[in-house]
Amino acid sequence: MSFGELCSVLEKSASISSRLMKVALIAEYLRGLEGEDLEIAARFMSGDVYPRGSGLDAGVGHSMLMEAVAEVTGAPREELLEAYRRHGDLGEAARELMEARGGGALATLVQAEPLSLRGLYGELTRLARISGEGSYQRKLSRVRGLLASCSPLEAKYLVKLLLGELRTGAVEGVVEQAIAEAFGVDLEEVKRGRLLTGDMGEVAELARRGELGRLGVRPFRPLGFMLAEALASPQEAAERYPGRELIAEYKYDGIRAQLHASGGEVRIFSRRLEDVTRSFPEVVESARGLDAILDGEAVAFRDGRPLPFRELQRRLRRKDPRELMEEVPVVYFAYDALYVGGRSLLDEPLRERRRALEELLGGGRGSIAVSPRWTVRSAGEIAELFRRSRAEGYEGLMLKDPESAYELGKRGWKWMKLKEELDTIDAVVVGAEYGHGRRAGLLSDLIFAVWDGGELKVVGKAYSGLTDREIEWMTRRLKELEVRDEGLRILVRPEIVVEVAFDSVQESDRHPGGYAFRFPRIKSVRLDKGPEDADTIEKLRRLAEISRARAKAK
Ligand code: ATP
Repeated sequence: MSFGELCSVLEKSASISSRLMKVALIAEYLRGLEGEDLEIAARFMSGDVYPRGSGLDAGVGHSMLMEAVAEVTGAPREELLEAYRRHGDLGEAARELMEARGGGALATLVQAEPLSLRGLYGELTRLARISGEGSYQRKLSRVRGLLASCSPLEAKYLVKLLLGELRTGAVEGVVEQAIAEAFGVDLEEVKRGRLLTGDMGEVAELARRGELGRLGVRPFRPLGFMLAEALASPQEAAERYPGRELIAEYKYDGIRAQLHASGGEVRIFSRRLEDVTRSFPEVVESARGLDAILDGEAVAFRDGRPLPFRELQRRLRRKDPRELMEEVPVVYFAYDALYVGGRSLLDEPLRERRRALEELLGGGRGSIAVSPRWTVRSAGEIAELFRRSRAEGYEGLMLKDPESAYELGKRGWKWMKLKEELDTIDAVVVGAEYGHGRRAGLLSDLIFAVWDGGELKVVGKAYSGLTDREIEWMTRRLKELEVRDEGLRILVRPEIVVEVAFDSVQESDRHPGGYAFRFPRIKSVRLDKGPEDADTIEKLRRLAEISRARAKAK
């Protein structure tokens, strides 16, 4: 099956606005595929090059692709930049230049074989395996070779695929629905399959064979994380669970991490289901010998107290995590067990999972600790514990329904988070303005957006609360992502996620998103999140409600 055909389907789908018609189109295409072709096509369409959790990564960034496109088309850098700015999309720019200037499959004298899905995937796998000295040049030469064998349309989608630009929430949902329709299976089953395997390709092939129902939990295959809703106050938690007990835990300000251990091997996955094992050597050592999948938080922790998130980030930014291992030790606080000794615990109630966790780890194991837990029954008890957690240096409390199953990839009221400040939002930086005075020449004011359906809507601008070094880093990074220079400000490709704190939020027509913040400030750069993890307009709606409720209570 050819890559060209897949590109035609994607192109056609992008031109249709009706979601139902998109689904029908993709379903029809997928129905004609099987085996590896189906796996690759479904995975590519959902925006992933490799199965998530496979540890494979193309390692091809924006600047390498710019270089490759320039070389293949022979376009001078200025011409390429100009096309890129006009479209705001490097894939589209590559296509235009190839059409106008030649380069790629159409220009070769000998009619090349059309690029097959399997051939392309094989090449991309080889690309991911290149490492070590001179790897940039070797990767570049492979990417160049690949682009040269592409038609202009194929080049467009290859570039978008490598940049991760096909991966937005909306597209993923359409592909899931298309798989359900193509093979006559339940959408919920497809979604569950996706959360169990992290790979749309495997899900599609299992759906075709009618074997989705047999999927189980397996170590080293990352699972979608369960997420929490934000509470306005301790009272709200008590009102939602009248007369019931809740499990309370500290709310750690660290990095969410899923720890997989089995047969002497250990791997740790981030929220984006990326393999971050390398970053936490001490946790890996402590986990050896376990046969389990745990959910928890990697926290910078010293002398019995948590260190600020900033410290952890400092360590994560180092190429070699061992450099700061002594200065910034990490403890993995496990708060859930999803699998122990060959058995899935996903459908067990939380109190059972906690019991299994405590039995497994006892009083802890090296750099792995069991998060303490309390049982609370009233708003008063919650408020008391909340004060204690703050006094001990934690961010607040998590409150969980002891009867709840582990809901993969879901946010809901079974888990609730309570913080001092109003909940922060994770937004994508889409532009930036130059600062004044000491910050002249630095991009210190960030324009940020959140998702509204499949679209990013600007909701505000914040003078960043980042340190000088972070602002310098941000300026450099933003310049790499620049798509348009408007003099006092630049617009950038949406890639960087920042956590924005603020005093309150309310409806307003000041920004296209329809909300405005009071005193927004950038709290941190979320290197562990990608644009697809940013928050949505629905969350702002909910936060505006909380703002109103808190204002009334005062
Ligand atoms: P979210 O993870 O809900 O999208 P976020 O990344 O902005 O939001 P917060 O709103 O600050 O983070 O809090 C939720 C996060 O808190 C969880 O994803 C998890 O990483 C972290 N967390 C800390 N302690 C716990 C705990 N005891 N149980 C569950 N999650 C916890």
